[in-house]
Order: sequence, then C-alpha cells, then structure tokens
Amino acid sequence: MSFRGLSLSDTMVKALDKLGYHEPSAVQSTVIPKALRGISLLAQSETGSGKTHAYLIPILERTDYNLNRVQAIVVSPTRELARQTFDFARQFEPFFPKLHVRLYSSETETSQNEQGSKVPPQIIVGTPGRLKDLLVDKHLFTLQNVRTIVLDEADMLLDMGFFPDVEALLASLEEPQIMVFSATLRQNLKDELTKFVRSGFEWESDKTETASTVRHHFIDIRHVGDVAAVTQFLRLRNPYLCIVFASTVKAVDALYAGLKANGIDAIYFSGSLDDRSRRKVIRAIRANHNSVIVASDLLSRGIDIPDVTDVISVDLPSDLDFYYHRAGRTGRFGKDGDSWIFYNADHTREAKRLLEENKKDKFDFYTLKKDGLKPDPVGLLPKEKLTKKRELPEAEQKEILIAKARSNPKHIEPMHKKKRQFAIEKVKRKYRRKAIQKSVRKELEAQYREKARALNEKADKHHN
Ligand code: AMP
Repeated sequence: MSFRGLSLSDTMVKALDKLGYHEPSAVQSTVIPKALRGISLLAQSETGSGKTHAYLIPILERTDYNLNRVQAIVVSPTRELARQTFDFARQFEPFFPKLHVRLYSSETETSQNEQGSKVPPQIIVGTPGRLKDLLVDKHLFTLQNVRTIVLDEADMLLDMGFFPDVEALLASLEEPQIMVFSATLRQNLKDELTKFVRSGFEWESDKTETASTVRHHFIDIRHVGDVAAVTQFLRLRNPYLCIVFASTVKAVDALYAGLKANGIDAIYFSGSLDDRSRRKVIRAIRANHNSVIVASDLLSRGIDIPDVTDVISVDLPSDLDFYYHRAGRTGRFGKDGDSWIFYNADHTREAKRLLEENKKDKFDFYTLKKDGLKPDPVGLLPKEKLTKKRELPEAEQKEILIAKARSNPKHIEPMHKKKRQFAIEKVKRKYRRKAIQKSVRKELEAQYREKARALNEKADKHHN
C-alpha cells in the first residue's frame, strides 16, 4: 500500500516522498482514511508506530490554508512530545506555504506564548495547562473553526491529571472530530472518554503493540550490582545505541555516576533536568553523540529516538505498561531490537508477573557470568527444578529395556545385578553425551550468530 492509495493530495504525496516516507505504517493505513472523512476515533498505538503522522497528515489535508483561524489542536502530555509534534508539523511548511503552526507549552514563557499571537495559527500544538489557560481562560483566539482535536498519549494525559484541562478545552469546541491516541486502552480511560464523546466515535482499536521485532531477554546478574552488571554487559555487547532505564531518579543518578566512573561515555536524561538541559540532551542523543543513555521512564514515552538497538531495564517498573514503553524504544519500523531485563534470582516477583501477564512475547534467559552471557535453561523456574529427575526420552527408555533384557541371566550368575546396572548406565551415558553435545552446539551457534550480528552492525556503521 502506498500513500497515494490513501487518496491524499498530490502535494501531500510529494511532501511525504521528499521527507522520506514512502509507505504508510499500519496505524497510518487504518487511521488516515477515517480521519480524512472527519470520523472521531481511538487508536491504540505506541510511539514509533508513526502515530504522529497518522493524525498530522489528515489534519494538514483538511486545513483551509486561506483561513487564518485555529482549525486543529493537538494536546500532548509533555513539553518534549509537544515540541516534537510541532517540529514534525513544521517540516511540511515548504510544501504548504500558507501553513501556520504554533507551539504553546510551558516550555516557553507566557509572554512569549502570547507574543506574535495576533494572527491566529491554523494548527496549535501544546500541553494541556497552557492550552486551557490561553484558549479557554484568556480567549486568545476564536475556536469556532476548530474541526479537529487530538489527544496524544491519552493514557498519560489521564495519569498526569490533565483530564480536567482537556475537558475544559473540549467544552469550548463545537462537536469537533476527536482523535485519541493511547498506548494502552484501560477501562478508566474509556470511561473518561465516553464523557465527552457524544456520537459517531469509532472505538475499534488499531492495536500496534511493542513491535514484534523486539526480542525480550531476562538476565540473572547474580548479585554483582547494577553498575558492575551494566558495565560488563555494555563491554560485552558494544551496542550501537542503548538506553538503560531505572525506575527512580535516585537510581538513574547512581547508575549514571557509576557508569561514568567506570569509563562509560553515557548521557543522562531524567525529569530532574531543567527544560533547557533536556532539550540539549535530546539534541545530543539525536545527533548520535553517545551510544549509551541512562534514563528514567520519562524517556520511555513519546520521545522519538531513532536507531535504538538495545534497551536495558535494571529494574522492572511496578506498572508493567512502562516496561512495554521501554521495550518499544527499540525494534521500530521493522528494525531488530533487544530488550534486556536485569534481575537477581532471589528477587523475581515483578519478573514472574511480567511472564504471567505476557503470553504473546517470547522471553529467554541468560546468566551474566565473569566470562560472558550464558544461556540459562532454568530461568525463573523454581530452582528445585534443577535437581528434578530427568524425564527419559522414549528411545532411551526402549534401549534401557533392551539392555535389561539382554543382561538378564539364563541362570543365576555371579555379579549379574552389577552387570545389568552397568548395561543400563552405559545407555544413559550415551544419551547424556548426546544431550550435552546438542546444548554445546546450540551455544556455539548462538555465539556465531552474535559474532555475525556484530560484524554486520560494524559494516552497517561503516557504510553510514
Ligand atoms: P511516532 O512517534 O509514532 O509518531 O513515530 C515517529 C517516527 O516515525 C519518526 O521518526 C518519523 O519520522 C517516523 N515515521 C513516521 N511515519 C513514517 C513512515 N510512513 N515511514 C517511515 N518513517 C515514518
């Protein structure tokens, strides 16, 4: 399917082509045709699925460029996401010369926000508090011509307590098209949305979960401590671009300081940075200055960082949705990605919960040892499974029966019991040897694959 097949204007198809977007993503294919018809909809989609363009493209197509009135509003939960959406929208300015987009967020001072506001923009992107203040309380512009409002990352808007502002905004619009994008589709979100959606709302979701190209792994770090484990892991794997997540700012701080002390050239991102520093860090990340980012969950939502190859969770967030957001930073647009969860074998509660809840993805297990990462066949199973008697394969059972029968004496012989035991042991040894050879082969294959992957990556980097 091409963008042309979505009945877009020639100008739009050309613009998308110039911007390097040749084929619509899944969420774009489902959302754009409906959105162009003015239908209100709810799309369950992650950052990285192309959701921003799923709403920007139809908004831009439906905008009347000869009308200097506000026609669409995009509400984002964070300043970073608002800025990112604003930047994406402005990329279309060369193709739609009369396009006028403006950013209203707490990133810029109120005075700045109100300055240059004489001519109303056609599209406004902003954070809820600032939008409510300027558009609802201060009546900065008439909202009569607003045809579309987008609630981006709606579950986050709800979690951050922004719904009263969103409600106030919606109350000042006349039955607009509402497009809701949310990574999760919880009942309380549906309940909240039902309040302001009167009719014609398409609830069906365009579910694009964490990309299926993400591989999930658990690593038992065997009590070495997060800093030592991450350091060893990074040296072993040498990732192209890796985000290391921890749940609290304190943990992020400690991890960052520890990695720096170990000579790892990491960059830091958390909510404790002021706006300017955050913007600076995001610019540096996008310019590929560093290959390791140590971050809090703030970076797991909304912010688009291309080419992340590895994500490490040194802990699991208590809200496991956050785990999927973390893992979703990699494996984007069909690329491969790996998400590594560090755990200690005696703290497995969250890990087990994740495994129980998630029946869709495949998780594998490793142990971080001094000499490298070793596959761990037992994983999170109770350790007593380790000593559980081996279930004998059918062929082995048969051979044991034959060996027993053969060693049965025709008449009483000295040592016949020992001889029989010896015959059985011989069969067992043969099968054990086979099993060991198989697992060694598997491990070697995994190592070769890993080497080939590293070489390919090196070659790719060289090409780029
Ligand atoms: P999202 O955060 O889900 O909006 O994803 C944004 C990322 O996907 C950005 O890097 C976009 O430039 C990129 N993107 C959006 N649509 C496409 C497309 N159709 N083809 C390739 N990349 C795209």
